Amino acid sequence: MSGEDVVRRCRKLARVSEEEERLTRRFATPAMARANALVGRWMAEAGMAVRVDAAGNLVGHLPGCDPDAGTLLLGSHLDTVRDAGAFDGPLGVLAAVACVARLRAEEVTLPFAVDVLAFSDEEGLRYGTGYLGSSAVAGTFEPALLELADEDGVTVRDALAAFGGEPDAPERASRRGERLLGYCEVHIEQGPVLEQREAPVAVVGAIAGATRAQVRFTGRAGHAGTVPMELRRDAACALAELVLAVEAAGRAEPGLVATVGRLSAQPGAPNVIPGAALASLDVRHADDAVRAAAVDGLRARAEAIAGARGLGVAWEGRLDTPGVAMDPALSERLAGAVAALGLPDVRLPSGAGHDAVALSALTGTAMLFVRCAGGVSHHPDESVAPADVAVALDVLDGFVRGLAG
Ligand SMILES: [Zn+2]
Repeated sequence: MSGEDVVRRCRKLARVSEEEERLTRRFATPAMARANALVGRWMAEAGMAVRVDAAGNLVGHLPGCDPDAGTLLLGSHLDTVRDAGAFDGPLGVLAAVACVARLRAEEVTLPFAVDVLAFSDEEGLRYGTGYLGSSAVAGTFEPALLELADEDGVTVRDALAAFGGEPDAPERASRRGERLLGYCEVHIEQGPVLEQREAPVAVVGAIAGATRAQVRFTGRAGHAGTVPMELRRDAACALAELVLAVEAAGRAEPGLVATVGRLSAQPGAPNVIPGAALASLDVRHADDAVRAAAVDGLRARAEAIAGARGLGVAWEGRLDTPGVAMDPALSERLAGAVAALGLPDVRLPSGAGHDAVALSALTGTAMLFVRCAGGVSHHPDESVAPADVAVALDVLDGFVRGLAG
């Protein structure tokens, strides 16, 4: 299978949607069942035995010739965000299917088995929580999640039952205790770095950890016309200082990204001095210690800004997820397969989460990023060049054959 073939399949799969005019495919919906059927057909054509597991993940199995040699896991997710592009997730699944198809076409028999996993939920659009599918495979599925309800009041339990999964035993999807050789995922970069470096692929070093917080400055509201400047305690001005400090912190530390994505002033009237101001904060870095130091620094800065202006400040942590390192040995193998093609050795951290985060609790993981046009993702304009996909297929092929020795 060529890069062109894989791109064509991604585009065909993108027409399998819950909505007429745009691609939206949520966990355990009829559209997801149709996607599983289509991809399952392609898996079967590639010579794999196909099943849907207890958590709604589609699994294609290619046996190896040595039953004691274990199983290599490949894959990505088939669910999408709302109004999605065609490649975030499906590219990794269909590249893995193409890899198996190529092995079969060339009559290569591997000692180990290969399972292609097409996860049922990574984006978390339906239930606001990601990794429902991959956490079940990793054996870390939280049973409490079964009671979450979507916007129509349908619980995970009911959705999974209607989908043909096993809501009373999602742990049956777990691969814990098996002899696994690792998990490798191909994914679009979702950023502009490969394009800027003029490289088709990169090996992912780590998936960045993230801190989210909400910061609230409290001053005193007053009349915009009558309170003199020197007597004001304007919370929005403090917030403005903090926003620029966040940008400066991100720029000062290599690999650090720091964002204020939501900000508001209260009461929010043109003729009232803001008495309170709120900002969201999102800080990410592949190294947890660097991220923690940056967050501490920003917190101290917020207090200093508030102190200098006679304001109050409250800092509320919302999320703190550690970074996930990829497996060094698998990553070196992947890098070796890139080098064997004469391509530059680009290593990137991933600023976004992936199924590999969940799978890293189960087995060693490695990821290959593929250049995408303009770094655009989570958008219908998402696009990859067939030539870059062809490179990814060659890298994956080299990686899998290399593991076979
Ligand atoms: Zn994805």
